[in-house]
Amino acid sequence: MNVHIPDNARRDLALVGCPQCMFRFEIPNYRLGMRHRCPECEAAIKPKYVRRALDCGYSLSYHTFLQLITMRPYRDEIVPLIGAWFGYSVEYQGRTLSVRNAAGHPVDTETMHEMIQSSSRWQEILYRKAGKFFR
Ligand SMILES: [Zn+2]
Repeated sequence: MNVHIPDNARRDLALVGCPQCMFRFEIPNYRLGMRHRCPECEAAIKPKYVRRALDCGYSLSYHTFLQLITMRPYRDEIVPLIGAWFGYSVEYQGRTLSVRNAAGHPVDTETMHEMIQSSSRWQEILYRKAGKFFR
């Protein structure tokens, strides 16, 4: 899998380990919780977090992003923000959410996360909102 890494994410890496072969490598912090191809054994894995490689960025892991958009009270502040940025609408059944774009087509939450994390402005706004909750 070839992943495009935006420049602002390059400075904000997490050290992770492959749960199958224990190989350690770095991925953009925002991709934590997402599926990844191990560069050593090539298995499709969810890398295990070891530590933050650098601490100068504003990225959020996919775990955190999912929490922010599915759980109260976070989602009440985060979802309107995403609506304003992308024109998306979000509906819930319990904690299961479905996101639609302005044309009514379903939007994948991993794609939405990648879009936000590829913009330093959106990334920082979301980071500061999250900091308010998780501090
Ligand atoms: Zn591996």
